[in-house]
Amino acid sequence: MTTLQGISASTGAALGPFHIMAAALPKPSSMQSGSGAEFELDNLSRAIKAVSNELGERAERSEGLAQEILYATQEMTEDSALFSEAESLLAKGHTAAYSIWEAAEIFTRLLINAGGYLAERASDVANIRDRIICVLSGVDYPEIPLLNHGFVLIARDLSPADTTDLKPGQILAIVTEEGGPTSHTAIIARTLGIPAIVACTGVIEAARNDGSNSVGVDARAGVITFNPSQELALELAALTKAIENRRLHRPLHGADGYQTTDGFTVPIYANVGRFEDVNVAVESGADGIGLLRTELLYLDRKTPPSLSEQQELYTKMFTPFASKKVVIRTLDAGADKPMAFINFSKEPNPALGVRGYRTVSNHKALLTTQLEAIAEAAKASGAEVWVMAPMITLPGEAQDFVSLAHSFGLETAGVMVEVPSAVFLANEIAKESNFLSIGTNDLGQYLHAADRESAQLAHFNDPWQPALLRAVHQVANAGARGNCPVGVCGEAASDPALAAVLIGLGVTSLSCNVSTIQDVAQAITSLTYVEMRDAALAALEASNAAEAKLLARKHLHKLASLGL
Ligand code: PEP
Ligand code: MG
Repeated sequence: MTTLQGISASTGAALGPFHIMAAALPKPSSMQSGSGAEFELDNLSRAIKAVSNELGERAERSEGLAQEILYATQEMTEDSALFSEAESLLAKGHTAAYSIWEAAEIFTRLLINAGGYLAERASDVANIRDRIICVLSGVDYPEIPLLNHGFVLIARDLSPADTTDLKPGQILAIVTEEGGPTSHTAIIARTLGIPAIVACTGVIEAARNDGSNSVGVDARAGVITFNPSQELALELAALTKAIENRRLHRPLHGADGYQTTDGFTVPIYANVGRFEDVNVAVESGADGIGLLRTELLYLDRKTPPSLSEQQELYTKMFTPFASKKVVIRTLDAGADKPMAFINFSKEPNPALGVRGYRTVSNHKALLTTQLEAIAEAAKASGAEVWVMAPMITLPGEAQDFVSLAHSFGLETAGVMVEVPSAVFLANEIAKESNFLSIGTNDLGQYLHAADRESAQLAHFNDPWQPALLRAVHQVANAGARGNCPVGVCGEAASDPALAAVLIGLGVTSLSCNVSTIQDVAQAITSLTYVEMRDAALAALEASNAAEAKLLARKHLHKLASLGL
């Protein structure tokens, strides 16, 4: 048995044979072309056109999210910046294959250096490069095979174009050596309900060295086991069955949210960052939107979105939730989310610098235009719109933001609690706000002084860390004292067992990744409030994340039989 640990990107479990996706072509030689720049340029243009046409044809045959991703990849293929970069290398006498390889390298480096969401788009550029090189070399691009049995797909990384061909019945699970939990691979896998693990270092080598061609995947825990023991195989088979059975039942929902078995109501909202997430949120049974990350809507913009543009998009995004709650966050720009239309000065520590609400001290018009657009969209859509600001540090900032939002007619205005000072000042901040929303992703990184993007420091950013749980408890208590609702919108709320603990700690609502709403709802509706409270009290006593999980799970044992 060989066991490897990666990061869970889509929950579930699988057991079966595996297939290693063929590696892309190696880097082309840097030898000069013998055929001349004009010939190479013509070759490159034709290869780009062929790849673009193929992606376009596949997009036409697809629908929904897969179609959008294929069209977006097609657009990237024709990106003139990538072509111009390659053209300048062709002019130096290189071959078309070498030039496009180098040009793509420059772009992927830029994306990786930008970090966060942009870094995860680097695999899209690499995939376009590989497709173009395959056309230039006259070989077939390695596609996902069509086998007559189900299998676990193991790959270095999968691109959006690869993943659009995934068939849930055939692909039992996906495990990639690279990639991150917010990459396109992860998004598609979650949408299709395929268990997935990403960033699983060494998985390809382990697969090549394995003689059994049998693998067990526990995507809840991010663990893959080659040649599993009979005991583990039985455990995974039971887990897969439990998940299948559970998914046949819709969880119990009352007038204002999901219901625990002792009648306590928990609203479960969705985190959205793209227009297309909204429909998925509706289909997933979300009670509304609990976090609309507006900066993600405009990440690729060179100029600020106008009032009318914003108004139109927000109206479209709010309307499916007319008469329901929508919590929209003002631009959270900076650090891992740089925006071309905001001039950030170079800082030694961007995550501790001018980001989130702090950016508006220099760009007030961005905030006021956005609030005006939100207020208009709220009226036009009929949704119950709440607005909040990110990265609030002091009560004075909360006071300024809330009164500004009120002046635009936005009656319910609140702030995110995601830096430690806001935890210690939660009583005062709650007095200034109509609601609080805890951002556990940033709060975890700032409490532990550990970059949330760092794979090496990932254990500090485990949302089960007791310091984070104690912080949530403190904020929930401050909210209860001040009659101020407190939600959690960080990824912690997307872990079904942890979501139950958060409710037990006293938070009044959860906002999750759309793909996990049903799992979280099933966890909440299978437990009593008392069990969640006991699990929370136990976890608060722990001194590390693993212990917190273990102590809490003793009170949440019903979840195991549901495969949660
Ligand atoms: C958070 O920090 O938990 C949060 C929800 O905000 P983001 O992940 O967008 O920084
Ligand atoms: Mg945050």
